[in-house]
Amino acid sequence: MSTVDSGTGLLGLFGHPVEHSISPLIHNQALKKHNLNFVYLAFDIKPEAVQSAVAGIRSFGIKGVNVTIPHKKKVVEYLDIVEDTAQKLKAVNTIVNDEGCLKGYNTDIAGFQRMLEKDGQFIIKGKKVLIIGAGGAARAVCSALCEKDAAELYIINQTPEKALRVVEKWSATYPEIEFGGGGLTEEFYGPLLEKVDLVVDTTPVGMEPNVEQPPVIKTGNIHSGQLVVDLVYNPRETTILQEASKKGARTLNGLPMLLYQAAESFHLWTGVYPDVEGWYDLLKKQSDLY
Ligand code: NAP
Repeated sequence: MSTVDSGTGLLGLFGHPVEHSISPLIHNQALKKHNLNFVYLAFDIKPEAVQSAVAGIRSFGIKGVNVTIPHKKKVVEYLDIVEDTAQKLKAVNTIVNDEGCLKGYNTDIAGFQRMLEKDGQFIIKGKKVLIIGAGGAARAVCSALCEKDAAELYIINQTPEKALRVVEKWSATYPEIEFGGGGLTEEFYGPLLEKVDLVVDTTPVGMEPNVEQPPVIKTGNIHSGQLVVDLVYNPRETTILQEASKKGARTLNGLPMLLYQAAESFHLWTGVYPDVEGWYDLLKKQSDLY
């Protein structure tokens, strides 16, 4: 898009805060590249304004929005249709306005699966996984792994009850998968850490500006046969990834997931799958993320 005119459509992000989001940068680049007459803006929506913001999607004819922290759960109740997986997670990160009908999706799941498969060269089917954390991102990761037939899933969290709630919910839906859950005690997670193929840290620990924060687990049992993923992407290498890397494990940060979930959202709004490689080039030039 080179000029804004009376036909320009609107896309955007609802979150709080939003000022550090890279979404406007990458989506506007893709819109321009594909010659689509839209602009993408970031809207800082306070929690008490979520309902009226969603109503605004209809009244302003906004074509679609991404939804981020802390509104992914809250928006669900104001939509007309919520796609199955997003419904199960009770979390929507993408809204499509289909001629006044607001449809909710969760593209974090596809984003995580694509990151593992493409960037991690990791086939989920039959694998054993340890997930650290039991919040929204952990539930999306859990769903992504269940959908692709992981064999064993273990969830550990500083509040063990939350981990157990996730286990209870997903084991009822996927009885063929072996589940376990508990707290952050080494007696519990130590043996699991040794036997799993994949470790996914879904906590915000180590995220900018707290880059010196040590990992929430003792990493002694991590080894070279494993892939260790941290969903945090800023900094590029959190302390858990640094330690895992020293032990010879392969590591990935959450940037590919972020870009793939954005690409899925872009596709839902426009029918076009954007050039994710082009986004890496853009981030190299315009941010210190890559
Ligand atoms: P959330 O719902 O608030 O969950 C955070 C989880 O981390 C909870 O289980 C929490 O434990 C745990 N936690 C928080 N602080 C901790 C600490 N100091 N020590 C140990 N555990 C701690 O947040 P979320 O939506 O899941 O997001 C989590 C992270 O993933 C964020 O950094 C987010 O930016 C990132 N993320 C990345 C992507 C991506 O595309 N790369 C996508 C989604 C999320 P309690 O429940 O016990 O408090």
